[in-house]
Amino acid sequence: MIPTIVKVAGIEYKINEVENMENEFNCLGQILYTKGIIKIDSELTQDRKEQVFVHELLHACFYEAGIEEQDEDIVNRVGIVLHQVLKENFTKKY
Ligand SMILES: [Zn+2]
Repeated sequence: MIPTIVKVAGIEYKINEVENMENEFNCLGQILYTKGIIKIDSELTQDRKEQVFVHELLHACFYEAGIEEQDEDIVNRVGIVLHQVLKENFTKKY
């Protein structure tokens, strides 16, 4: 499940689902650090939205830790693993 707001190092990021990101911007998600906004393509499957959210969340973590130049490949790889870890260990099962 994706929250509507996430706090990273005390900074609020709002999560917005945006239509047609993949076609218009050729990306599934985007983070605007100074505006505190994470955008996610609204047409993705729920699993994919969550995966993209964790990816953008990692960008936020690195950015707030002072790492502004980020290796996209590392964020991609760690994001996929972290998504699985969070999903399978910290999600309430009903
Ligand atoms: Zn990225």
